[in-house]
Amino acid sequence: MAFASSISSPSYSLTNVSSKPNKMLTPPRKIHSLSLVPRLSASRLGYALQLQGMDSLNFNPFASVASADVLLDEAVEKAHLPKGDAWSIHKFGGTCVGNSERIRNVANIIVKDESERKLVVVSAMSKATDMMYDLIYKAQSRDDSYIIALDAVLEKHKSTAVDLLEGDDLSNFLDRLHQDINNLKAMLRAIYIAGHATESFSDFVVGHGELWSAELLSAVVRKNGLECNCMDTRDVLVVNPTSSNQVDPDYLESGRRLENWCSQNSCDTIVATGFIASTPQNIPTTLKRDGSDFSAAIMGALFRARQVTIWTDVDGVYSADPRKVSEAVILKKLSYQEAWEMSYFGANVLHPRTIIPVMKYDIPIVIRNIFNLSAPGTMICRPAGLENEDGELVESPVKGFATIDNLALVNVEGTGMAGVPGTASAIFSAVKDVGANVIMISQASSEHSVCFAVPETEVKAVAAALESRFRQALDAGRLSQIAVIPNCSILAAVGQKMASTPGVSATLFNALAKANINVRAIAQGCSEYNITVVVKREDCIRALRAVHSRFYLSRTTIAMGIIGPGLIGGTLLDQLRDQAAILKEKFNIDLRVMGITGSRTMLLSDTHYHDWLRRGIHVITPNKKANSGPLEQYLKLRTLQRQSYTHYFYEATVGAGLPIISTLQGLLETGDKILRIEGIFSGTLSYIFNNARAFSEVVEAAKQAGYTEPDPRDDLSGTDVARKVIILARESGLKLELSDIPVQSLVPEPLKDSSSVEEFLQQLPQYDQDLAKQRQEAEASGEVLRYVGVVDVVKQKGTVELRRYKKEHPFAQLSGSDNIIAFSTQRYEKQPLIVRGPGAGAEVTAGGVFSDILRLASYLGAPS
Ligand code: ADP
Ligand code: ASP
Ligand code: MG
Repeated sequence: MAFASSISSPSYSLTNVSSKPNKMLTPPRKIHSLSLVPRLSASRLGYALQLQGMDSLNFNPFASVASADVLLDEAVEKAHLPKGDAWSIHKFGGTCVGNSERIRNVANIIVKDESERKLVVVSAMSKATDMMYDLIYKAQSRDDSYIIALDAVLEKHKSTAVDLLEGDDLSNFLDRLHQDINNLKAMLRAIYIAGHATESFSDFVVGHGELWSAELLSAVVRKNGLECNCMDTRDVLVVNPTSSNQVDPDYLESGRRLENWCSQNSCDTIVATGFIASTPQNIPTTLKRDGSDFSAAIMGALFRARQVTIWTDVDGVYSADPRKVSEAVILKKLSYQEAWEMSYFGANVLHPRTIIPVMKYDIPIVIRNIFNLSAPGTMICRPAGLENEDGELVESPVKGFATIDNLALVNVEGTGMAGVPGTASAIFSAVKDVGANVIMISQASSEHSVCFAVPETEVKAVAAALESRFRQALDAGRLSQIAVIPNCSILAAVGQKMASTPGVSATLFNALAKANINVRAIAQGCSEYNITVVVKREDCIRALRAVHSRFYLSRTTIAMGIIGPGLIGGTLLDQLRDQAAILKEKFNIDLRVMGITGSRTMLLSDTHYHDWLRRGIHVITPNKKANSGPLEQYLKLRTLQRQSYTHYFYEATVGAGLPIISTLQGLLETGDKILRIEGIFSGTLSYIFNNARAFSEVVEAAKQAGYTEPDPRDDLSGTDVARKVIILARESGLKLELSDIPVQSLVPEPLKDSSSVEEFLQQLPQYDQDLAKQRQEAEASGEVLRYVGVVDVVKQKGTVELRRYKKEHPFAQLSGSDNIIAFSTQRYEKQPLIVRGPGAGAEVTAGGVFSDILRLASYLGAPS
């Protein structure tokens, strides 16, 4: 029987990883030079310049918050807006308005909201934006199915409107919808003919989802009796495109336009389009994918609102993407910095730019679940103190984890880089020239290599640009290589308190090592709010789960397969079932049996443990075969297990649940020298020799009591004891084969070949005399007979034989089917270390396996 376990979360479905698969369709990014923004004032230019330098590398935007603040202040001061606490901002994500019933639900929430004034930012209906990007993709690929796809867009919105509205409301909406669709048709036709869509064409097209959802929602709110105006944010929000698929709001101009809008549309409830805006030249644009959160934050800042509530489809910000870690927990509070780091590193519950506008005014953001109104959500605000009243740390230093997939690492290496000023700058200016977005950078302090991560889609261009930029250095050998490592992911640990807590990275890397994850690059920001590691993409979820559970954010989850649910396996299942709740509650360990299979139904080759270990699956077994088989295979198994950082535990192979192997390992690891291990290793033979009756009678009784194998000769032959001797000998460092162990068999020679068990038992009494004689001789000199296994480490040999012991020897005082094992070592020379107790039976053997499983859990990060 073997137990294979690995960290994994069973309820997680891989097919569910991305809710927005079409994001790949985002049009290519364009770098805008300063000459494209002629309206910038001098101070604005300063800010823009700063961003030109920094943003292309996507550095922490907090670096430039100070200059942005000035603009924000000015905007709010100069615009005579009805601003302040009376306003609250709500933002409803795509799933919140995914169908007519949900739109009705949102309208109800808006009507019931008691804020004096509210502005509601709404996303497109779920999937609508993906559908719009798909239209462009199809049209520019000259695929005329864009026409059918556009019909689907029309139908989606039309049927929703028919469900929600009637009379004039409905006909007004449908008129507009048809008109928009006709315009889009013409536009897509032009794109189809040209085989190309400019960024502004495509931004114009994709923004329609928000226009329609805002129209629909405001009509329903009005229908519910609340006066409400619909704002097309292209009339209000002005943004300047910057590099890397980002825009910068022009707060001053937006403030002016907002004031203007409010003076013409005085109203206490506004439903505004998320995502869309205009350039300073009044060309429609967007805040880029997932930008509605950002829209809401900009509005929050312009109005100096009391709060921005972001409504979505999860209970708040989780400690990790709940689709990847089912044990993720809701974070009640996050600082602005923490929220920014989480979103920057892939927690798409919040757009990373959302934080900046609201932070300056301490406007809290609350993330809430539209489908679970009873959940309080996550509050993102200025951090409170680190400690509670008792002075204890309130929470783990790591708040959460986030991941970004589809990255490639670029490694620029060479001795000629050391001490040469400007190398890094040359590297990144080449990267900037191709418009690539650098997600993290790590440089070895030897300055021999610079390594950075970029999206996989951009790496070809980056590598080509670097090769051309450094051609000379490569030819001269000053640079040895520009290497691309594809299929990478970033895993980031985020938490403000990491800065003041020692040992966080040690714990993190330890957890990764124990889960057998190879770390390819590491970066820690000077702020220490995040530690970032790059791992292979296929390891990413496993890595995420391992570190998540290590930091106590969730339970240590062990998914197990049980092979051979016979007597021991079945008993183990019972034990697991009885103990599961306590383990979860008290020890934070979640053991899940994911599969059970009979050893016969599974084709297992001799080397099956090898394959599992190699794949990162830990193995726990009470089966003696692997460790007592051919020496070469055993040694290979151990090497492989070490190499693959997997665990292989087999305590129950000797003495069932008794701590034999772990005692031996403990002695060896602490530097003791083993001299000799001697013991009664067979419960069956222990029983037989603890009994004064004739040999054949006791064998018969032992068989009746279920203490023997179906054929008692399997016990009496001594092979089972020899296997245990071999296991202990190898554990002590001896390189012995099973055939090196002389075994004294208790099966009389002529009966070895008896054809049946019955025949054997029938004839056995004829040989009682032999053993009785030996017993009498022993007794005459105050001794008893015991069937023992011996590992003589000094002489490097092992034996299995009948021996005589003085009546006062611990081996002589055994009862029932107990095992007893004596370790004579350098430390325990005069008085050996003795372990004694029941060494056979399903309960204790399963218990031994169970305790190995818990040892594994603790190795994998369960709290001790
Ligand atoms: P919306 O359309 O409402 O803006 P998004 O799909 O953009 O919603 O963001 C919400 C999704 O973000 C959640 O459904 C969740 O799957 C995902 N997500 C990723 N990481 C996290 C996290 N750490 N906490 C919460 N949600 C997360
Ligand atoms: N509808 C836009 C998108 O899907 C913006 C948003 O939902 O935040 O990207
Ligand atoms: Mg979103």
